[in-house]
Amino acid sequence: MRPINNPRFIVDQNVGKLAKWLRIMGYDTLFFDGSNDSRLVAIALAEGRVILTRDTQIMRRRVVTSGRLKAVLIHSDEPEQQMRQVMDTLNLDYQFKPFSICLECNQPLVERSREQVKELVPPYVFQTQSQYMECPACHRIYWRGTHWQAMTKKLEQFVKG
Ligand SMILES: [Zn+2]
Repeated sequence: MRPINNPRFIVDQNVGKLAKWLRIMGYDTLFFDGSNDSRLVAIALAEGRVILTRDTQIMRRRVVTSGRLKAVLIHSDEPEQQMRQVMDTLNLDYQFKPFSICLECNQPLVERSREQVKELVPPYVFQTQSQYMECPACHRIYWRGTHWQAMTKKLEQFVKG
């Protein structure tokens, strides 16, 4: 499959863990929580999203076999293997737009100054971090802490194999 510019995704609930990984890299990723395949396909078509799924039924749909809609059939049931396959197949860049999307609600994050978050983050964070982002939907504050670094490192490993 040739690489797509700025791909957007919709992940089926059977590969739901992929949503978080993709959002960490900055890819707009919708988590589809339903069981209605037709609805999933309709959203993907309407919003130009690549479907990630383990459901072979979806892969057999004419809209997919004809190439009108891109879908990737995920082989493994292990999240890290799944991520490896997606990054490999679609040539994803783990440094695409890191730190730009809320991991919980897929909203684009907004930059916040240190002063703006002073009362919202733990004191040790305030002392050590200078860059902050806020989700306009859930108001979660993000910073490049150790958890984020660990996840980025893992993504890097997926690429290097
Ligand atoms: Zn959020």
